[in-house]
Amino acid sequence: MTTTTPPTEATTAVQTWLAQLDQALSASDAAAAADLFTEDCFWRDLIAFTWNIATFEGRAEVAAMLADTLDRVRPTGWRVTDGEEPAAADGLIEAWIDFETSVGRGHGHLRLRDGKAWTLLTTLYELTGYEEPHGAQRPKGAKHGASRGRTSWQEDRDREATELGFTEQPYALIVGGGQAGIGLAARLRQLNVPTIVIDKRGRPGDQWRSRYKSLSLHDPVWYDHMPYLKFPDNWPVFSPKDKIADWLESYTRVMELNYWPSTEAKSASYNDQTGEWTVTVEREGQSLVLRPKQLILATGMSGQPNVPRFAGMDVFRGDQHHSSAHPGPDAYKGRTCVVIGSNNSAFDICGALWEAGADVTMVQRSSTHIARSDALMEIGLAALYSEEAVASGVSTEKADLIFASIPYRIMHVFQIPLYEAMAERDRDFYERLEKAGFDHDWGEDGSGLFMKYLRRGSGYYIDVGAADLVANGEVKLAKGQVDHLTEHGVVLEDGTELPADLVVYATGYTSMNGWAADLISPEVAAKVGKCWGLGSDTAKDPGPWEGEERNMWKPTQQDALWFTGGNLAQSRFYSLFLALQLKARQAGLDTPVYALQEVHHLR
Ligand SMILES: Cc1cc2nc3c(=O)[nH]c(=O)nc-3n(C[C@H](O)[C@H](O)[C@H](O)COP(=O)(O)OP(=O)(O)OC[C@H]3O[C@@H](n4cnc5c(N)ncnc54)[C@H](O)[C@@H]3O)c2cc1C
Repeated sequence: MTTTTPPTEATTAVQTWLAQLDQALSASDAAAAADLFTEDCFWRDLIAFTWNIATFEGRAEVAAMLADTLDRVRPTGWRVTDGEEPAAADGLIEAWIDFETSVGRGHGHLRLRDGKAWTLLTTLYELTGYEEPHGAQRPKGAKHGASRGRTSWQEDRDREATELGFTEQPYALIVGGGQAGIGLAARLRQLNVPTIVIDKRGRPGDQWRSRYKSLSLHDPVWYDHMPYLKFPDNWPVFSPKDKIADWLESYTRVMELNYWPSTEAKSASYNDQTGEWTVTVEREGQSLVLRPKQLILATGMSGQPNVPRFAGMDVFRGDQHHSSAHPGPDAYKGRTCVVIGSNNSAFDICGALWEAGADVTMVQRSSTHIARSDALMEIGLAALYSEEAVASGVSTEKADLIFASIPYRIMHVFQIPLYEAMAERDRDFYERLEKAGFDHDWGEDGSGLFMKYLRRGSGYYIDVGAADLVANGEVKLAKGQVDHLTEHGVVLEDGTELPADLVVYATGYTSMNGWAADLISPEVAAKVGKCWGLGSDTAKDPGPWEGEERNMWKPTQQDALWFTGGNLAQSRFYSLFLALQLKARQAGLDTPVYALQEVHHLR
């Protein structure tokens, strides 16, 4: 005899709400559905309703979205996810939910307040009829039985390599074979979308190998998994850069990607009539034209160096390079080095130069936020990405969705207390740093590192040790703008002269649409506009409010042009939604985009 436990109050409240939602949506009554939300509600949709990545704020926006999409989406089957009991805390009820649409299966997250939805996340994770072959559906691999002319797995792979890009065109071409490009390619492979990834570098992983030698990932292992293939349990918490490079290289093989190394995209143009790109690539010195239907730029958010132009750079006699070209400290023992900038790369490079016995000065041009790595792990990430989180049932997939369920408009509210706790925890450190004259900030609204990352992708350092060197004066600090270089050093606007054998420009990177300007045309780059940033109207993230990262992982103003990038966690999570958008188009599904983002900024 089986016994069933009665539903909790929280479960009943969620079931009641879902039934009401189902009723309103089935009746195509957008207004009635919107009434089930609080006035200050948020509905974040990852392609389930909108074929877009978009957040709708307030009842009017929710109603407008539903009025436009309901007839096509026809959502049904709203229910609490099996095995996930809704939970009540702090005046909210939180629940994991499932539903179906006319084209696929959806999963989501709901927060109810006083019986109404305050936040709703809807995601489409699978297209009906195009499911990935995993679990019970995994491929058999071996071909049992006897048949003449059978081919082996290796022969099939070899044939694909000789045909794709030559006698057969890829449906998708991914330019850039870093983690973003290969994670997306892995998903497209599982979805049976013929794809080629090209990279101008000689080996997968070279983007990490080529960085300064002291670099290890600043984010911990639980946050960094690639799609499908998690790091093993004995993987270090912070992956050294050459180790992550080797992992990415193996990934391209294990995931059976069509990866073309030493292949540079030289130019690309789109034909509206044929719906096809013409992409000229140079592969191992040979020119070749590819004709994909979809072009994805995975060329790196930290890929196109922002190299400043200072008077006198041409007369400076020492070494000078952007941080991305910095070879590491070995050649600079006993030399005098000036690092311009005070964010992540600047600190890492200063620290390594100091360790190698160089005389190092950091030039701080504007204030920086510093979060100590231990504090960030303990206070910022532990609840979602840590050994304890995994032990308490918060898998990486679940953590990603919990994070995604918090609308960007209010994310800072959740972040501020974390950074207040960090300020308290490391009070001595911050006092020492400020005493040393370092300009430190917590973000314009005190929301710290992650919001700075989402808004502008810069302006912070995750301290793994080098900040102490500045606080102690072992790395010298100079402040102000650079006026010019002389033959032997750097002169600041206030007249301070800094002698230098080496000048490193740790001055960051430009917006990803710069890649589109180089590869396609300045007109197309302007048409799609700036990539990244939320429109928060804070430094380097001008308004108006966008609600989502500009142009990332979603349709742009240029047909069939897409951008992917960001940190390992974002590349992992959003690659699913980008892959499904591409698969839907390949499969010929109707994919009208609701609320295609407008362009407000060119770069
Ligand atoms: C110093 C530093 C530390 C970082 N630390 C972390 C961290 O701890 N955790 C984290 O998650 N992220 C970190 N990041 C951010 C991010 O994860 C990395 O920048 C990462 O390399 C981005 O991956 P990607 O695939 O988007 O781009 P990239 O790795 O930059 O790859 C882009 C690729 O595109 C190729 N390419 C460009 N143009 C062309 C062309 N025309 N034709 C062919 N190929 C082309 C390039 O050769 C390159 O290999 C760090 C970044 C930097 C710079």
